[in-house]
Amino acid sequence: MVSEQYAGLRWTGHPLPDMGIAAILVYARKEMPEEITVEDLERLAQEAERWYFSKVLSGYLTVLFTSNFLNTSWTPNQKVKYAQAVLRAFNWPLDETGPMCAYCHRPSVRPANLCGRCDQVHHEAICPSCKKEGVTRAYRDLVPMLTGRDVINFFPQGQHGLALCGLCIVALQALSIGAPYCEGKAVIVEVGDAPADREILRAVVQDRFATLQRLLSVQTDAKPANIRGPRTRVIEALARWQQERAPDGEDEEVEKAGPLTVYHLSNSGQGPGIEIYPLPSNVVQFVKRAQGQRYRGVWNQTVRRAWEGKRREGEEPPEEERRALRNRFYDDLFTLPDNAGVFLRRWFNWRPEQIAGLTPETLLKQERWPFVVMFLEEVLRMEQVRVTAIRSLADRVAADIADTNDRQIFRRFFSGRTDYRTVRDTLIRADRRRVQRLGEPLVTLDDFLTVFEEGEEVARADWRLAWDLLRIRMVEELCRLGWFQRPEGREIMSEVDREEADEQAEEVGATV
Ligand SMILES: [Zn+2]
Repeated sequence: MVSEQYAGLRWTGHPLPDMGIAAILVYARKEMPEEITVEDLERLAQEAERWYFSKVLSGYLTVLFTSNFLNTSWTPNQKVKYAQAVLRAFNWPLDETGPMCAYCHRPSVRPANLCGRCDQVHHEAICPSCKKEGVTRAYRDLVPMLTGRDVINFFPQGQHGLALCGLCIVALQALSIGAPYCEGKAVIVEVGDAPADREILRAVVQDRFATLQRLLSVQTDAKPANIRGPRTRVIEALARWQQERAPDGEDEEVEKAGPLTVYHLSNSGQGPGIEIYPLPSNVVQFVKRAQGQRYRGVWNQTVRRAWEGKRREGEEPPEEERRALRNRFYDDLFTLPDNAGVFLRRWFNWRPEQIAGLTPETLLKQERWPFVVMFLEEVLRMEQVRVTAIRSLADRVAADIADTNDRQIFRRFFSGRTDYRTVRDTLIRADRRRVQRLGEPLVTLDDFLTVFEEGEEVARADWRLAWDLLRIRMVEELCRLGWFQRPEGREIMSEVDREEADEQAEEVGATV
């Protein structure tokens, strides 16, 4: 047996070849691109030759590439010949006079041409035997989202096509086994360049490759099952990977995350196009921290409630069914940080029907406040002093309600219209009652300003967010004090339940 020869693969910093490199790593079960050998690539080429012509993969190839070996004018023999050549681009001759590879800046290669006229595979601009013209650069049949041959637009110096090295061409081919095939398009993920970021890429590829292997091992003429929700699938892979490796500590440190971008693209001749979904680094960091022991319970519960389709509250669809479903909570992460207020309200406000089943014992498992504080820290970078002020205000209002059984104040907090005037009136009223009863105010002017106002009677732009946070904390504090189990608490919850349902219906109608 020949000694192992390293192929020379390395990360390029470009999402397309890097996703393919991650696929090669998962296929070869190796950690670093530098560990990939020529034997690994040859083994992959031999297997891919079979896979390419199976129903499981052939349709997807037309989405990624408009490859010649799918060209209907070629004989089956010609198609196989060309596919064999492309999968072994790591052996193609260097283009001594050409520019460097556009992705990795190594010497580029002279692409293979299969001359349809005389059936020769060659690497020349002109077929040596029949003199038919060939290509010397890569076009959209080798690179997703490039233009076709001879289209000069968008290339520098009027030179169309891209100069590429053989390894990058092979990496692009590996997208077929590593980039999830979702809603008829490819999912390409771009991550930061830290090792922990590249692990995310690996997690996404792992899911796709495992699905593919399962299909190929059963029957190769079966079409792959429908997979939907590109954003959902990426967050799902990220969360699973992070949960598997999160230690059991209280609030463990996670490595600083880079930003992540999901590209959902099709290079198909019928309808090329791309959608781009960015996820800023602080949101990636939030998702990663949310998988730690301390926050995982709330995360998992929220995920369970958010699957598309009708089922009982909190019931999770089975794994196979899930792949065709979007998760609204996962998708909403891509609206952050801009939409943080709506996000918090939608996913973490306590709904009356949830409060109804909340007891001090169940609160231990479902408490949202620490999770929400972590969200505020990571996603909104909210100042600690404001978080503390909201918390102590909420705790004091809750204690007053529990002490006096003041259903009227509770009702003002949890039902009716939410405009700033009502919020201000509600707080002033609660404050007055506390002064009458205990001779001390609910909140100092300083705290009130910190939480709600820019200046006297000028609401902060995010007063609604502060109000929602106040309500989340109040519910949990009232639960801790056992108020919802007392007759007053139980009774008012059923009243609020009905009103809230009406208000929610209105809100949904307005946002759709
Ligand atoms: Zn290259």
